[in-house]
Amino acid sequence: MIVVLKPNVGTEREEQLIGWFKSLGLGVHVSEGQFQTVLGLIGDTSKVDSDLVASLDIVDSVKRVTETFKCANRKFHPEDTIVEVGNVKVGGGNFCMIAGPCSVESEEQIVGIAKAVKAAGANMLRGGAFKPRTSPYDFQGLKAEGIELLKIARQETGLPIVTEIMNASDLPLFEDVDVLQVGARNTQNFDLLKELGHTGKPILLKRGIAGTLKELLMSAEYIMSSGNENVILCERGIRSYSDYMRNTLDLSAVPMLHELTHLPVVVDPSHATGMARMVPPMALAATACGCDGLLIEVHNDPPHALCDGAQSIRPEEFAKLAGKVMAVREASK
Ligand code: PEP
Ligand code: MN
Repeated sequence: MIVVLKPNVGTEREEQLIGWFKSLGLGVHVSEGQFQTVLGLIGDTSKVDSDLVASLDIVDSVKRVTETFKCANRKFHPEDTIVEVGNVKVGGGNFCMIAGPCSVESEEQIVGIAKAVKAAGANMLRGGAFKPRTSPYDFQGLKAEGIELLKIARQETGLPIVTEIMNASDLPLFEDVDVLQVGARNTQNFDLLKELGHTGKPILLKRGIAGTLKELLMSAEYIMSSGNENVILCERGIRSYSDYMRNTLDLSAVPMLHELTHLPVVVDPSHATGMARMVPPMALAATACGCDGLLIEVHNDPPHALCDGAQSIRPEEFAKLAGKVMAVREASK
């Protein structure tokens, strides 16, 4: 249930009302907007007499929310959430460019790519240290050493680092990581999501391989209801009928998610298509439909990449693309 308060209700009366809802065993999510405060009631609201609440002189309106996702729901939080990663803001009109290799391979590789993508306009560095590979015989990532190399690249460039966590027991290794990525294979690893909810760290949550939007939002709900509202959603393509490409990039997810949720939405055209030459056109299309950022795999030597070389673009291609992305953003304002 959503309770919209009238403008300029004093804190004392607002707190009294919140206290009453809490005494009924409900959680209360408070969203202070520029003009109005919205109270989102979480739990069994069947005990609440909505007509009685609507009749209170401090209440503007009352709505029942039928969707199962509450904290992530735009009705609970009408204004865009801005996730802050150091000095970088994501959402609410702030655009992020997350770029870097699929996997961290060596210090020379990650520092070199970090410098190149930063010069081209990226404001975050990605790189996998723990890699979820389909085959157990493929490169599994440098793990703890990979995280240390990412930190060196951050020190050299100032770029915040984004890397995937697969197991909550690895959390101590991620203490000094700026954004924790939950990959498509773990989007419904609910125990992991709950643990990440306790960290308070920005989480980049990818859509599951065959995940619906509702499933993605419910996964965000696991993180948020455990206390962490810093969630960035990522559309990375879904398994469907694509025969020539790795996945199908569902761009209509972007405006639909913006309607349903206040969380920022970024698009990953690299995993969505699996082909380097498809990345620039789909990145521009994603920008045109209003995403809050892009996640792009960039490698200095794609043919020799240890993972996802076929979909990785070179730093000079990324630089060209970044310029076009800015032009599309300007044009779609
Ligand atoms: C990745 O970002 O390298 C990755 C494994 O992505 P996804 O989980 O989307 O496949
Ligand atoms: Mn990859």
